[in-house]
Amino acid sequence: MADVPNVWEMTLARLDQTMSVLDLKPGVIKYLREPRRILEVAIPVKMDNGDIDIFKGYRVQHNTNRGPAKGGIRYHQDVTLDEIKALAMLMTWKCSLVNIPFGGSKGGIVVDPSKISKKELENLTRRYTYELLPFIGPEKDIPAPDVGTNAQIMAWIMDTYSIAKGYMVPGVVTGKPIELGGSQGREEATSRGAVYTLLCALKVLGIDASNLTVAIQGFGNVGSHAAKILHDLGFKIIALADVSGAIQNKNGIDPYKLSEFTKGNALAGYPEAEKFDPLKFFETKCDILIPAALENQITEKNAASVKARIIAEGANAPTTPAADPILKDNNIFIIPDVLCNSGGVTVSYFEWVQGNDAYFWSKRKVNLQLRDIMEKAFYEVYDFSTKRKLDMRNAALAIAVGRVAQAMKLRGVYP
Ligand code: NAD
Repeated sequence: MADVPNVWEMTLARLDQTMSVLDLKPGVIKYLREPRRILEVAIPVKMDNGDIDIFKGYRVQHNTNRGPAKGGIRYHQDVTLDEIKALAMLMTWKCSLVNIPFGGSKGGIVVDPSKISKKELENLTRRYTYELLPFIGPEKDIPAPDVGTNAQIMAWIMDTYSIAKGYMVPGVVTGKPIELGGSQGREEATSRGAVYTLLCALKVLGIDASNLTVAIQGFGNVGSHAAKILHDLGFKIIALADVSGAIQNKNGIDPYKLSEFTKGNALAGYPEAEKFDPLKFFETKCDILIPAALENQITEKNAASVKARIIAEGANAPTTPAADPILKDNNIFIIPDVLCNSGGVTVSYFEWVQGNDAYFWSKRKVNLQLRDIMEKAFYEVYDFSTKRKLDMRNAALAIAVGRVAQAMKLRGVYP
C-alpha cells in the first residue's frame, strides 16, 4: 500500500526531532538510531494437510544499555521488518520512560493466526522459539504478547525454551498464564495503565471525570479491557471498532455484554448498537478517543475531523507525525503511546521480578505499584512538557531518550 507511511521512517523522524532538543553528540545520535541486533528466520511448519509451509519471522533488539531487551511478539499478515524495528525502538523508550531496567525489542511472524489451526499455531510458535533460542532468555531478551498473540502462545514459548535448557525457565517470557508463573493483573495491565494516565490528564486539564464519553478502536486485549475498566468507572463507551467494522450507541455500549457476544460473533453485528462506516470512526464526537488497534490510524487525512478532547494512545504509533500538528492546533491533548500503553511492560517487569524471586504478589499490590509508576511517569512528562514548552510526545521521548543516552555514556563503548 503506497499511501501507508513507513512506520520505521516515522519513528526515526520522531527520534530526530526529539534529539534536537537534547544536547547529544553526533555519535550518540547515530548509535541510538540503529537496532543492536536483527534476526530474520524462515520457519517451516508441518500443516494439517501434510504439506510444509514456510513463514517469515523476525526478532529485533534495539537497545540493551539499561538491561535485557524486552518486547512483544506480533502475529499478523502485514508484519514487516521495518515495523518490528520501529516497535523495538519504541520499547526502548517505553521501558526507559517508566524507568524499569530493560532495553527494547520486538518480534513478529507474517501470519494471520485466525487462518491456521491451533495445532499449526503451536507448531509455528515452537519452531520460531527454537530459531530464537540463542537470542532470547531471562537475562537477554524477554518476549511478551502483542497483536495476535496471547498467554497460550507465551506458554508454548516458555515450554519450548525450557525443554531446550533442561529445566523450567519461567522468566523467558511474560504475559504467561497465571498457572505457569504469570502475574496477577498482567492481562489488563496495558489498559489499566492507560486509564491511570487518562485520569491524571483529566486532573491537569481540569476536566470533571463524570459523564464523559469514549470511543475505542480495537476490541482485543487493550481495547476490551480499557472499555471494561472505563465502564466500571462510569465512563460511557459510545463507539467501538475492530477489524469487522464499527458500532455506536449514544446511550452507551456495555463492554461486558459485547465481550460475551464477540465470543461467537463479529463485533459489527452487535444488535444493541448501530453499525457505521469504520472510515468515519475517528470523527466520532466524544471526550476521549482511544486507538487500540494498529499503527498509522490517525493521519493527516483524518486528523482534522477528530472531535475528541483527549487521545489516549493504547496502540503503538497510532498517530502519524503529520497528524500531530493538526491535533495540536485543535487543542487535542495527546497521551503518547510510550507513556499511555507502558502499563503492559511495567506489569511484565513485575512478572519477571516475581518469577526471579519465585514469590508472587496479590492483584492489589500489582495494581497499586502500577498506579505509582504510571502516575510518576505522567507527571514527569507533563512537568517537563510545561517547563520546556514541548508537547507531551516530545517531552516523553526526550526523558526516555536522555536516560538511554546517559546509560550508554556511563557504560562506554566496548572495547
Ligand atoms: P489484539 O490482537 O488483542 O487486538 C487488536 C484489535 O485491533 C482487534 O480487536 C482487531 O480486530 C483490531 N483491528 C485490527 N486491525 C484493525 C483495523 N484495520 N481497524 C480496526 N480494528 C482493527 O492486540 P492488542 O494486544 O490489544 O494490541 C493492540 C495495540 O496495542 C497494538 O498497537 C499493540 O502493539 C499495542 N500494545 C499492546 C500491549 C499488550 O499488552 N497487549 C501493550 C502495549 C501496546
